[in-house]
Amino acid sequence: MNHKFNNEVGIILSEEWDPLVFIEGNPGSVDFPSEFILDAHKRRNGFVHVLMHTHPPGMTGLSFRDELTLKTLAFTLYPFPIRMGTLTLTGKETFIETTYLALLEPKELWEKGKIRKFSIEKEHVYDFVEPIGFWRKKAIEMSYKKFDKISEL
Ligand SMILES: [Zn+2]
Repeated sequence: MNHKFNNEVGIILSEEWDPLVFIEGNPGSVDFPSEFILDAHKRRNGFVHVLMHTHPPGMTGLSFRDELTLKTLAFTLYPFPIRMGTLTLTGKETFIETTYLALLEPKELWEKGKIRKFSIEKEHVYDFVEPIGFWRKKAIEMSYKKFDKISEL
């Protein structure tokens, strides 16, 4: 079986890693709806846990735009943590899930007049062939079209 990448797909996950919403993106990015995130966060602080999304083959890292989205949210949701994750095809049939945690300097430590420190830390890396959990399967199916080489000829 081969995979052809079409569009990025985003999934907002709760703290129990349950999908709250699926978002269809385009080949190079996906827009996470900030209004949805803020509403969910207002209902329950800390409820929005990971902004997961599929990436084109081989791209396990965050794009500049991803980092900017994560940084903006880290400020908005502070002191609650926020993460971003990527689901990427890395081999013929192997996927890697990588999550990144946004680390914003605590208000108490931040020296006024200086730029508040911000960094992104890789939190976990997990590789799989068959997706575990329906949301991984659904996001991958929405992003990558599977095809059989023989039937393509
Ligand atoms: Zn991305």
